[in-house]
Amino acid sequence: MTRLLIVGPQGSGKGTQGVRIAEAFAIPVVSTGDVFRANVAAQTPLGQQVKAIMDAGSLVSDEIMEGVVAARLEQPDAVNGFLLDGYPRTPGQAEFLQRLLAPHGISMAINLEVPEDVVVERITGRRVCSECGTTYALGRDESATSGICAKCGGAVVQRPDDTEAAVRKRLSLYAQSTEPLLAWFRERNLLADINGVGEPDAIAAGL
Ligand code: AMP
Repeated sequence: MTRLLIVGPQGSGKGTQGVRIAEAFAIPVVSTGDVFRANVAAQTPLGQQVKAIMDAGSLVSDEIMEGVVAARLEQPDAVNGFLLDGYPRTPGQAEFLQRLLAPHGISMAINLEVPEDVVVERITGRRVCSECGTTYALGRDESATSGICAKCGGAVVQRPDDTEAAVRKRLSLYAQSTEPLLAWFRERNLLADINGVGEPDAIAAGL
């Protein structure tokens, strides 16, 4: 039973690495944000309950989270393990998860570390098609430089919240809110700090 979770700021490559790690262990990625987005799209009672909270950028209550996480981890695809992304976000949620997974608990929390300047460079170099949503990187994809989407011909632009000042602010808020969670895992010898700088394959190979 491989019960992993992955923590890392926006731009750390958490999504990319999460998928690779999950494939290597043949376990599903369980993203609580994705569970909520699917429920909002399908207009389920849960979706209706959390939509306004998500739109406001606030956290869903622990009570709702506990029901959602417990139900999701009971699904057949998660019986041999899982990689959680987006949960837990607080020490309180980590305590709940340990109780839920008793007696074994979490196998390991993976902290994907990328220096602030690298994340800033990645995010400020990101461009997105305003029509189809495909993302491109400056210096890697021609569409980022030309401003024309290779897939649909739409206009490729920079998101207003992908500027350096906005990214640095988000990173500082992230560091503040995540530090207690990382400390919680570190105190229990459950934290693996992974260097997230470099090409995705090289990072995955070093895990
Ligand atoms: P994410 O994609 O992980 O950023 O999650 C999107 C939204 O879902 C968040 O902004 C929260 O409103 C909600 N959410 C996801 N995971 C959690 C969690 N562990 N605790 C509270 N709210 C969460």
